[in-house]
Amino acid sequence: MSDGVAKDSAEGSSRSSGNHQQQPQPAPLSRYESQKRRDWNTFGQYLKNQRPPVPLSQCNCNHVLDFLRYLDQFGKTKVHLHGCVFFGQPDPPAPCTCPLRQAWGSLDALIGRLRAAYEEHGGSPETNPFGNGAIRVYLREDDKAKAERGERKGTEKGKKG
Ligand SMILES: [Zn+2]
Repeated sequence: MSDGVAKDSAEGSSRSSGNHQQQPQPAPLSRYESQKRRDWNTFGQYLKNQRPPVPLSQCNCNHVLDFLRYLDQFGKTKVHLHGCVFFGQPDPPAPCTCPLRQAWGSLDALIGRLRAAYEEHGGSPETNPFGNGAIRVYLREDDKAKAERGERKGTEKGKKG
């Protein structure tokens, strides 16, 4: 067992009183925690893959918005374009070339997790790009657009499919 040392030397934290790391990770991470960690790694990877790479300290809400758009390509929610014969149908009977998007709810949850992770990694709440109003607007517009197209899955409670 490697005991001692383990003081992460100046990992960019300007705050000095952050020495609350005495427990050697007893329980496995909760689902939320592991999901959060995975999201954070994905986002970090995304920033690194930018040309040029974006240091976290310079990450702003525009990077986050780009990240959300980037994630859309991995989405499973079909968003038909105007003019598509399946417009308004969430599950088209045949393939079409319209883009896939992330479901609004999953993006909303993702932002919540990244917002928490950002502050856990030493980010300041005041400059937290995930808490930026532009993100809210983006998510809301996205949601509204889907609702107008009739593509939003019924998430309201009390609604029977
Ligand atoms: Zn389509």
